Amino acid sequence: MSQAFVCCTYPECLEPAGYKIAAMRSDGRFRELKTYGHACVDHLGNIFQKAHLRCEATPRMPGEVIDEVGLYRFRPGSRDAFLERLWSLEESCRANSGQ
Ligand SMILES: [Zn+2]
Repeated sequence: MSQAFVCCTYPECLEPAGYKIAAMRSDGRFRELKTYGHACVDHLGNIFQKAHLRCEATPRMPGEVIDEVGLYRFRPGSRDAFLERLWSLEESCRANSGQ
């Protein structure tokens, strides 16, 4: 089965995405990953920080909960539930954001 090719979200970058930036969203009944972007290794920090800001700026509906943005290893065609969260890489992206 052919898989959709997903490239990095960074403008004009055509590298295949190796990472997915997403946050777990829940409305009290369903939980799903809300995707904020895809990144290649070079733009991971940039995309992650933008995603983090966008997530914080997203208005929540009543009863809706959106967790902190996380970093996941992206594999085209794999289901969100099976994506591996990359905690240590996530931490280093946060540490590098210079806040
Ligand atoms: Zn890129």
